[in-house]
Order: sequence, then C-alpha cells, then structure tokens
Amino acid sequence: MEYNEKVCSHMQHKIVFTETQEKGLGITVKSARELERMRRAGRIVALTIQALRQAVRPGVRTRELDSLAEREITRLGGRPAFKGYRGFPATICVSINEEIVHGIPGDRMVREGDIVSLDVGAIVDGFYGDAAVTVAAGQVPDEVRRLLEVTEGALHAGIRAARAGARVGDVSAAVEAFVASRGQYGVVRQYVGHGIGRLLHEEPQVPNYGPPGLGVLLRPGMTIAIEPMVNLGTWETRVLGDDWTVVTADGSLSAHFEHTIAITDGEPQVLTVP
Ligand code: MG
Repeated sequence: MEYNEKVCSHMQHKIVFTETQEKGLGITVKSARELERMRRAGRIVALTIQALRQAVRPGVRTRELDSLAEREITRLGGRPAFKGYRGFPATICVSINEEIVHGIPGDRMVREGDIVSLDVGAIVDGFYGDAAVTVAAGQVPDEVRRLLEVTEGALHAGIRAARAGARVGDVSAAVEAFVASRGQYGVVRQYVGHGIGRLLHEEPQVPNYGPPGLGVLLRPGMTIAIEPMVNLGTWETRVLGDDWTVVTADGSLSAHFEHTIAITDGEPQVLTVP
C-alpha cells in the first residue's frame, strides 16, 4: 500500500484488508453493461437518500429512518447492502453530531440542531451503490452549516479530480486541499473511500488526504466511492463500545458526504443520482 499501513477501509475498522485483497482480486474495470447495473443500484441509493432527507427532523427516531430506508430500497427493487455486512445489524448507518460513521440506528431521537449523517448502500443485480449525506435537523449555527458545505464541496473536488490518467492520490489531495482552503478542519484519516462494484469494498482504497501523483492509475470503467469525513476539531477518531460507532476523539462535530462514481474517457460520472 502506497499510503499508510494503518489506513483501514471504510466500514471495516477491525480489518486492514479489503474484500478484494482477501480474495486475491485486483482492481476491477466494469463493462458498459455492468456500469448500467451500477447506475440502477446508485439510483436506488439516491432516491432512498432523498426520502431520508425529508424524514430527518426533530423527534424522529433513528430506527424509523432505518425502517424507511429498508422499505424504499426494497420497494425500488434492491436489497440493503450493509445489513449483515460483517455483522452490521441495520440497513443504514445513522451517525449524529460527533459520530463520524457506522452509527447503529435505534431508539435515539433526533433533536433540534443535530447534524445527522446517513450512509446508504444497496445491491441490485449483483452490483453495489453507496452514498452518504449529512443533514441538519432544524436550525444549526453558521459554523456547523459551513462544516456541511465544506465537506460536500470536498466530495465534489475529489470527484472533479477523478479522471482517467490521474491517480488515486490526485483525488485524495484534491479533497484535502479543498478542506484546507476553507479553514481549520480535521480530515479523518483512519477511514477511507474505496473501489466498489460486485463487492461493497473493492480495491483501491481512496484516502481523503495525501500527496498527489501517487497511487493507482485511474482508468475508464473503474468505479470508486469517494467519501470525505471532516471534523470541526482534529482528525483523530475512536470507536465506541458497540464496536461500530466511530466518533471524533475530541468530541467535535463531524460531517460525511459520499458518492459512487465511474471513471470515464471524459467527465467523471456520478452513479448515485436519481
Ligand atoms: Mg462507502
């Protein structure tokens, strides 16, 4: 690995290797037909996120958001991608305030001023889609609104850099540089984006930091999930006693935005769109 031996893939903090590494597989390039299937999976993820956005408000319980997501994914012809994945017990991850990723839906009630990260994955016809957004419940201070804007902006900076002929490190550097240009934030290092396709987590890993010009060469047909996680405080993280929920080490707020995209001959194509 070119980056950092300690980098773990998103959604698998207990294991250093991605599924493709475990299975001895390399980076996969998708055919036009395969990309079409990934677009279908991506559409289901995007529509589900749309429904969840409407549902996030003070008073809603995170379990209700999970049920809504499962109903939507199923109604649209997909299956939840995260449920049962390495033992994850729910359809979506719901991570509130200082929770960064992998929060488990349950009895917790969303309160006015919370920021709620929703990570949604679906599988359709053997292919995965994966995306995330952070939504504010009611009014939040300007500083928090800005955290969300900076994180989403960093995702789009990463997407713009994901072109054939560029390297994974160019995506990583673009994300990091965008965040740095907007102020003093912590870009999470321990959890990263990933290749995606027939597996939820394929090679290559896609960190949100690091020097440009390094890493895997991007080619048309490669599909990756880019997912910056940005904290109001430092980048350090820790995992709660449930063995899943990742929180900021300093208790600061955190935002997370993700899209699944395809590398093409021209503009990168976002697959997780309605
Ligand atoms: Mg992901």
